Amino acid sequence: MTANTAIVIGGGIAGCSTAYALAQRGIKVTLLERNTAIASEASGNPQAMLYPRLSGDDTASQFALASYLYSLDFIKTLNLSPTDFNVCGMLQLGFNPRELARIQKVAAFFESEAFVKYVSAKEASRLAGVELMHDAIYFPNAAWVNPQPLCQRLIDHQNISVKTSISVNKLLKNNDLFEVYSNDNLVEKSDVIIIANANEAKNMGLSLPIKTQAVRGQVSIVNASTMSAPLKLIVCSDGYLSPATHAQHCLGATFSSDSVDLTIDELDHQANLARLKSYSMALYENLKDNICAGRVSLRCSTSDYFPLVGELLDGSALISRPPRPNATAASLPWVKGLYINVAHGSRGFTSAPLCAELLASLISHDKLPIADDLAGLLNPNRFLLRKLGLKRLARMLATSSATSVTKPISG
Ligand SMILES: Cc1cc2nc3c(=O)[nH]c(=O)nc-3n(C[C@H](O)[C@H](O)[C@H](O)COP(=O)(O)OP(=O)(O)OC[C@H]3O[C@@H](n4cnc5c(N)ncnc54)[C@H](O)[C@@H]3O)c2cc1C
Repeated sequence: MTANTAIVIGGGIAGCSTAYALAQRGIKVTLLERNTAIASEASGNPQAMLYPRLSGDDTASQFALASYLYSLDFIKTLNLSPTDFNVCGMLQLGFNPRELARIQKVAAFFESEAFVKYVSAKEASRLAGVELMHDAIYFPNAAWVNPQPLCQRLIDHQNISVKTSISVNKLLKNNDLFEVYSNDNLVEKSDVIIIANANEAKNMGLSLPIKTQAVRGQVSIVNASTMSAPLKLIVCSDGYLSPATHAQHCLGATFSSDSVDLTIDELDHQANLARLKSYSMALYENLKDNICAGRVSLRCSTSDYFPLVGELLDGSALISRPPRPNATAASLPWVKGLYINVAHGSRGFTSAPLCAELLASLISHDKLPIADDLAGLLNPNRFLLRKLGLKRLARMLATSSATSVTKPISG
């Protein structure tokens, strides 16, 4: 099937970059967002850092690196203003023995590559423009981006129409067409749907094998001081401090899996400051009384930290008629035309653009932008397939070229 139209549910970086990748292929996209504006939830912080977290040659590092390199190149093509996209570089500090061992391993593994370099604490301080206490790895091309203008640029496309204040509460499939409902009223129909609404993906009224976890996070917005204003790049420990923009730094971020409370918490500000203290006493002393605001939102994560990207299976059909271990991908109960791009965890601005391109390639039957085995790690059905003992199929980013669910499915 080659799609002519598609509906994307969710207007964060995952939804906007998926809409863009489809629109670039000539597909007419309708993007539905429940808020009055796009990029209002996790994708709504004032700055998002673009960087990879690497360990060596494991698959997580391969995916992180592929995403990082893709995202940087991709965002450059969008010609955002320098006040919204800044290739300032990043230092990842060896601020404790475990992190020091990690950055040494990364530096040794990628010794001949230009995208990362090991630097002493002295060199790190020179690069940063402020004094730092630890050796680091330096990513000269790491960047920060302002999420709202980025998402807006992505949807400003002749093939994309955006409808805000539409909270999708139900999807139904009738023959080959999906019906999308908001408040139980039919709002749109299409033969291709992309679910990109993060933690709400599992509440779409279908039996889908989606397993995600909300992880609350708070960033602190800090007024720059005379000492911190010259900071030239992003400094990263288990949190990050951005260079000042409009005389304010972004200091992040906390992690909590046991709360979905969106109110700003003073203890979280203190936790962000404690991270800063662990690598620069001087910056801490300078900035500890300068927090002027904060922002809380929910990340969407999986237990293996890879996003969920690809076409979805009918979870109920799979459980009620478990396939044999040697089943082919084509024999599985696909919900043909129903795709997902969610669970970008703490690095959605790095991972979502590549995942969007991957999804659009799958939908359009184009060559995938990454190797099949790497793409296979993102199989959105993997948790249920693994549970059913179908580990081989869980490692494939299979498409439903042969089989579809023909009966109407409902919640
Ligand atoms: C504190 C914090 C700091 C972070 N820092 C960084 C960083 O520096 N760099 C980085 O890369 N990442 C960072 N992240 C992670 C990044 O923000 C996320 O990975 C990314 O925003 C996820 O994008 P998304 O589009 O999947 O989800 P979202 O941005 O949450 O988008 C989902 C959209 O779907 C909409 N929606 C939900 N349900 C419905 C419905 N039923 N109908 C219609 N619309 C619906 C929502 O309103 C929302 O707009 C941070 C996250 C947090 C919380």
